[in-house]
Amino acid sequence: MSDVRQHADDIHEQFSDHLDVDVEDVEERLTTLVDEYKVPMDEARRSVTNHYLEEAGLEREDISSGDSEAVTIEDVDEPEEWIDLTAKVIELWDPRSDSVAQVGLLGDPTGTIKFTKWAKSELPALEEGGVYELRNVVTDEYQGRYSVKLNSTTVIEELDEDLEVGNDTSEIEGALVDMQSGSGLIKRCPEEDCTRVLQNGRCNEHGEGDGEFDLRIKAVVDDGIDAHEVIFDKDATEDLTGLSLEEAKDMAMDALDTTVVADEIRADIVGTYYRIEGPTFGRYVLADDVEELDGPADAEELLIKARSM
Ligand SMILES: [Zn+2]
Repeated sequence: MSDVRQHADDIHEQFSDHLDVDVEDVEERLTTLVDEYKVPMDEARRSVTNHYLEEAGLEREDISSGDSEAVTIEDVDEPEEWIDLTAKVIELWDPRSDSVAQVGLLGDPTGTIKFTKWAKSELPALEEGGVYELRNVVTDEYQGRYSVKLNSTTVIEELDEDLEVGNDTSEIEGALVDMQSGSGLIKRCPEEDCTRVLQNGRCNEHGEGDGEFDLRIKAVVDDGIDAHEVIFDKDATEDLTGLSLEEAKDMAMDALDTTVVADEIRADIVGTYYRIEGPTFGRYVLADDVEELDGPADAEELLIKARSM
């Protein structure tokens, strides 16, 4: 069988339940693009697939490739691949759109990846901490970060086992350009197993409470290509600023105002260059190992890194 015919067969198979189309028609469209317009085959496939999607009034997520492959999360490095994953739901986030039923973070021993589950797919709900076999999910990419989409062809099977989740470690070199609200001297809910940060003295879950003081920084670090959100816990904040939790409490007490701590920290760190290493957790990098740099990292080296990503 010719190469073009094989691709035509694949596409034809994907649409067999949705459209009355001849495999010859698919092949002819591919041949025209590849032979006459010199379009590379993968691009031609995408274009022809899009044509039939439109004709059938379907979204890409509605059609299956029919041959999804079992992979681990670290193997995900191409968009629009159909894969099977065995993963644990690490956390669920609030969907920002009605078209999304669930969104959150999946993990397996090799790393973590964001997932989105469409509302119209009408799939069973995933639960935080649950381990699932997810067959027929499709990969996606946005600004170099990969995610997976659960769609109407996805098969979800809950597994009665635990799964160890590995960390993706990130290294960022760049300027700390902003410190976000919720940084500095904060108060956390004292309830057991609740470490939520109190907003105006209230925990979202447990209401009004005294709270326990903690130090934290939520910063934005720009590596010249991308902005990364970095969290410094108490130890990392003390190391970074030289300010201890006790000293921070004294400062706040003297000023009768906790915001003086954030102001002091901001003046100290914003505009400084750092190399930061640590695990990635959702969209955050947790600062584990921090080194202050003299100035901007070598631009050429950054470019080489960017190209190799
Ligand atoms: Zn609480």
